[in-house]
Formats: sequence, C-alpha cells, structure tokens
Amino acid sequence: MYCEDTIAAISTPVGEGAISIVRLSGPEAIQAADRLFAGKRTLSEVPSHTMHYGRIVDPGTGRTIEEAMVSVMKKPKTFTREDVVEINCHGGLTSVNRVLELVLDQNVRLAEPGEFTKRAFLNGRIDLSQAEAVMDLIRAKTDQAMDVAIGQVEGTLSRLIHQLRQQLLDILAAVEVNIDYPEYDDAEVVTGRLLRDRSIAVRKQVDHVLSTARQGKILREGLSTAIIGRPNVGKSSLLNHLIHENRAIVTDVPGTTRDIIEDYVNIHGIPLKLIDTAGIRETEDTVEKIGVERSRTALKKADLVLLLINYHEELTEGDRQLFTLIGETPAIIILNKTDLSGGVSIDAVEKLAAGRQIVRISLLNEQGIPELEESIASLFFKNGVTQNEEAYVSNTRHIALLKKARSAISDAIEAADQGLPVDMAQIDIKRTWDILGEIVGDTVSDSLINELFSKFCLGK
Ligand code: GDP
Ligand code: ZN
Repeated sequence: MYCEDTIAAISTPVGEGAISIVRLSGPEAIQAADRLFAGKRTLSEVPSHTMHYGRIVDPGTGRTIEEAMVSVMKKPKTFTREDVVEINCHGGLTSVNRVLELVLDQNVRLAEPGEFTKRAFLNGRIDLSQAEAVMDLIRAKTDQAMDVAIGQVEGTLSRLIHQLRQQLLDILAAVEVNIDYPEYDDAEVVTGRLLRDRSIAVRKQVDHVLSTARQGKILREGLSTAIIGRPNVGKSSLLNHLIHENRAIVTDVPGTTRDIIEDYVNIHGIPLKLIDTAGIRETEDTVEKIGVERSRTALKKADLVLLLINYHEELTEGDRQLFTLIGETPAIIILNKTDLSGGVSIDAVEKLAAGRQIVRISLLNEQGIPELEESIASLFFKNGVTQNEEAYVSNTRHIALLKKARSAISDAIEAADQGLPVDMAQIDIKRTWDILGEIVGDTVSDSLINELFSKFCLGK
C-alpha cells in the first residue's frame, strides 16, 4: 500500500437542504473521526460498514458543531481499499466546513482533486479506465450518459480490454510454440496464417468498440446544437421551449458530487448543448444579414443544426443562404408556425433539404415538438439510446488509444499478408498489447496518472 497519510474532503454538493459528506480515507480515518464523535459507542469499536448517529464535538471547546450520521467502513472492502469514514452532515455550508476544519486538525490532510479515486486506482481497486469513468459519472448530463459511465466504472470497458490483451498474449504464445517446434516444413507458413487470422479477429473487436465511439462521445460530451434561422422565425421560442421542458436533470449519485448542469437540455437521453443562446435573442429590427452572420459563427461549433423556416412565408434569399451554410453538418429542417396558413413552397424546401428530415411544428400551439425530439434522437441513435451491456467508448484518450491499437494490429496483419518473418508481426502484436494496456493503466507513466487525476473535482 502506497498511502501513508489520511486525507479528507467534502464530497457532495454543498447547498441548502443537501446532505454534505465529509469523507476521510487512510490509516487514521477512524481514530481521527472518533476524537470528534460523541455517540453511544466509539467508532473504533463498531463493526465495519455500519452507520452511527451522534454529535460532532470540537475537542478544544467541547461545543457541539453538528448532529451527524457517521459511516465506518474498514479496509479492504472500501472504494479506496483504505479505512473510510463518512460524516453525513445535514447542516449548511458553514457547519460542514467547520467539521472539515476539525477533521483537518486531527493529523488529516486535505485531499487533492481526485485523490480518493487515485488511491482506489493505486491500491488496485479499479483500473485507469474505471477511474476516468468516475469522472464522467460526476459530469454525466443525462441518465443514459450516467448509465454508460456506471457501466464503465463497473468495468465493461476494462473487461473487454483485458480480453483483447489476453487474446494477443495467446497469439504470441501460439507463435512461440510453433517457432520452437517446427515439426513441419511449412511451420512458418502455418504460423503466419494463424497469427493473421487471430489478429484479424482482434481487429474486428477493436473496430466494434470504436464504432460506439461517436455515440459514446455524444452521450458523454453532449451535442453542440445551433438553432439558426431568419429573424422572427421562432428561434428564441424554440430555445425557451426546449430549456423549459427538457432541462438536463441533475441526479445525485451517492458519495459523489455532481456539477450543476445549466445549459444542457435532455432529448431522449442525448444532452444538447445549445450554442450561443444569447446571440440568437435578437431584436425585431435585426436585419436579415445579421441573422446569417450569427448563424455562421454558431455553425462553426455545431454538431447539430436546427434550421427554422417560417411556414407562413415564402422562402427568402436569407433562408436559401442558411441552407448553403449548413454544409455537411447534420441538420433538421423545421417548418415553424404551422398554426398559420401555408406560404412556403414545400417543394422548394424539400429540394433544398436534400434528404434531410423536415419537421413541422407550431411553437405557439406546442404542436410537433415530440416529433422533432424523435427526429433529433434518431439522427444519432438509430435504435434509441440503448442500455444494453455494450461498452460505449466515450473517452477521447481511450478512443485515441484504440485507434492506435487498431493501426498496430493492422501492421501485424499486413506483415503476415506479405509473408514477412513472423517475428516482425510479433513485434506489432506486442505493441498492440502495450497500447491497450495504457487504457487500463497497466503501461502508463506516473506523469500521465498525475495529470489525469488532477482533473478531478475535489472529494472524489
Ligand atoms: P426569433 O427572432 O427567431 O428568435 O423568433 P422568436 O422566437 O422571437 O419569435 C418571433 C415571433 O414569432 C414571436 O412573436 C413569437 O411569439 C412568434 N412565434 C413563434 N413561434 C410561433 C408559432 O409557431 N406560431 C405563431 N403564430 N407565432 C409564433
Ligand atoms: Zn411547453
């Protein structure tokens, strides 16, 4: 075990009504908490994984700071694999901070950001991909995104990576055997074929995980969405409607802090980040040109475009320009104001839409919105956001490494195809094994570990 000292931090959102937890981890966690705790029993005597009601008392003055429920969890069956104490305070910010201050007087150090998770990793409780998933969990913007993160914390991705690495070792072992015992004249040929076939099988699995990357990234990071259209077409109305009906839910995960998500809306589990929302609240007298200029800026960052067209009016030059501006970005064409009489030429819109979905809505009468949401979701998730056992890969670092691994195993396959000596391919396979190891943290440098963990919030 590498950690000598005991650390503590506040580990839930602080705010009115919320329960805040002061979490301690390390060899002196229980003794330290005990010195502050006045209850029926002393904490060092209670069984592991039990909760106790009592008061937190300042040992200096004898004054009660807080009533608290205190959980005692003895190693090794804890998140950090160290002794862990959680002091659940229900008081406000001041009393939680006061409890933390008292804890820090007991030879306990304030945890660095992510240090609890880092200890869990260093003590072998979780691997690196799981540790990173803890961070995703904290930042998850929708329940579905949270499910993906939870799956990864529980090890869906790690298991897959471990399986792939095992398969690579098996290939290397098989090759080794064939090289050492060339019983047939064509041992080299047979070995080359075996290596090639098995490497192709590995690459297929890597491809499959990579195929989930786009959706995984969308769930994790959200879709930057630009609402564009001529002035007065209903952009602000749509924005307000989406925000009021679908604000991303912030759910508490026990024992973690969730950032408060302000500017995401949840569309069937997909977090949409609405771009430049201030920019599209333009005034009535905005000239058409400005609408286009702003759209241009918003479009640069967009993963998704919602282009609004006025159903009631004829298409204008401005409308046509916006169609051109969209380019290759995924887009949905929205005909708004269907409560009014039709003025737009549907034929012309269909031509300009060039196969993109066209949805009719009336924001005034709140019609067509579910269909619009359905269209958005189906654009990125053909069968909805599934919650199967699938390991969505969502982390940029993991995706980059998987691509690198794909290229390394492809080198091995190519070497085998060209009939090069098997030891050439062996090197590539070993390299693939190393690269995959970086995902789970078997083959990463200390500096990378420090960098990754320093990105965490405090108290994880
Ligand atoms: P923006 O300039 O594109 O942001 O458009 P706004 O959202 O500010 O809407 C411009 C005007 O159109 C406002 O007076 C809205 O009330 C009105 N409006 C928005 N949606 C509809 C709709 O579906 N039907 C009708 N009749 N009016 C609408
Ligand atoms: Zn509504």
